[in-house]
Amino acid sequence: MKVLLVFLFTLVCAKHELYEGWKSFFVKPSNVEQLNALRNMVHKFELDFISHPTVHTAAVVVVKPPHQHGFLTILAEEDIEHWIHVEDVKAQLAFDDQLIEAQHTTKRSIGTEGITYENYQPLEIIYEYLETTAQKYNETVTIVTPANSFEGRPIKYLKVSKDNFRSNKPVIFIDACIHAREWITIPAVTYAIHKLVENVTEPDLLENFDWILLPVVNADGYKYSYDVERLWRKTRSTDQHVLGTICPGVDGNRNYNFSWNSAGSGKNPCSDQFAGSKPFSEIETRVVDGILKEHIHKIALYISMHSFGSMILYPWGHDGTISKEESILHDAGIKMADEIFQSSTLQFPKYKVGNSAILLDYTASGASDDYTHSLGVPLTYTFELPGFDLDGSGFILNPKYIKQVSVDTWAGVVTGAREAGKIFTIT
Ligand SMILES: [Zn+2]
Repeated sequence: MKVLLVFLFTLVCAKHELYEGWKSFFVKPSNVEQLNALRNMVHKFELDFISHPTVHTAAVVVVKPPHQHGFLTILAEEDIEHWIHVEDVKAQLAFDDQLIEAQHTTKRSIGTEGITYENYQPLEIIYEYLETTAQKYNETVTIVTPANSFEGRPIKYLKVSKDNFRSNKPVIFIDACIHAREWITIPAVTYAIHKLVENVTEPDLLENFDWILLPVVNADGYKYSYDVERLWRKTRSTDQHVLGTICPGVDGNRNYNFSWNSAGSGKNPCSDQFAGSKPFSEIETRVVDGILKEHIHKIALYISMHSFGSMILYPWGHDGTISKEESILHDAGIKMADEIFQSSTLQFPKYKVGNSAILLDYTASGASDDYTHSLGVPLTYTFELPGFDLDGSGFILNPKYIKQVSVDTWAGVVTGAREAGKIFTIT
C-alpha cells in the first residue's frame, strides 16, 4: 500500500514536471512595431503564445527558464508593457488540476441528461456521449468513424438530420479541438448536439439544415494534453521528419492545402506552428477534408472552434486580402458576436469580428477557414472562445464557466446558421 501511495504521489508530482521554472506573462503591445518585436522573439526564445497578441490587447505568453532573462531584457528595451500572468506554471497547472478534480466527484459518466457541462471530459466520456446519443436518437443522429488517428484512436463525428442528408438542405459543419490544449472548444460542440436533439428550443435548425458535428479533430493531442502535457497543441504524429520521435506533431491548423506553408507556420519541426512535411500530411486534417469534399456543394457555414481570445475571424488569413464574400462574412460575423454578447451573463469581453490577418496583424497559411473558403463555402469562420478565467489566471477556463460559454456559443451558431440559410442556395 505504502509503495502504491508513493508511486501515485510520484505520478501526480511528475505530471507537470516539464514545466518546472516556467513562467507566463501578459504582454500588451501599444503599436505595430512592438507587436512585430514580440513576434520576432518567438523563434529565438521559443515563446508559446496561449492567446494572440494584438495592438492594445494583452496576450499570454509562456516562457521557458533559459529564455526568461533575454525575453524580459528585450521587453524592457522595446518598452513593451508586460506583467506576470503565472509566476510558477507548474504549480498553476497543479492548481488547475484541483479545480477539475473538485468538479469530478460525480461527473465522470453520462447521465440521463447527457454529458455534463460542469467539467472538462476525458476523450472516452465524449465518445461515449456520441455513441449513446446516436443510439438514443437513431432517427436523426448517425455516428461516423471515418478513420483512426495517428496513434490509432477512432475519430468520430455525428451527422444530425431529419432524413439522413437525403433532401437538399444546406449543411452546417462545426469542428473543434484541432489544437489539443483548447479544451473549452469541445463542450461548445457537444452542446450544439444537445440543442439539436436533446433539448430542442429552435426546431427550425433541424427542419432547415443538416448538421455535421466533429467535437475532437485531434483525439491524440487532446488525450495527451489531458493526461500528460497540458499545454500540448499539435497532433502526435512521429513520421514527418527525422526528429519525429523527439519533436512529434504538426500544427493541424497550418496543415490544410491552401497556400500551405507560406505564412505564419514554423519551418522548424519542433515549432508549435510546424505545418507538416506536406499539405494534409495528418490523418486528422484529411478526415476534415473528406467531410468537406463529400458535402461541399451543400455546406453553407463552417466554423472551427478555437481558444482563447473572444474573436470571430474569417478569410483570407494567409495574406489579409479581402474575400469576395467579405460583406456577408462580416455582417453574419457581427450578428453572431452580438447574439453571443446578448446571451452571456459573464463579463467576458465582447467578441471582435474581422479578417483574421487584419484583426491580428498576423498572416497564417494552411488554416481550415481559408481552405474551406477556397473550396467555395461562403461563410467560414474561426471562433476564438473566451478565456481564461474571468480573473485572468490559469491555463484553462475555470470549469464553472463551461456551461455558460457553451450556451453563449450556441446562440452565435444559431444566428450564423439562420444567416447562412438566408444567403445560401445549393447549386
Ligand atoms: Zn487554436
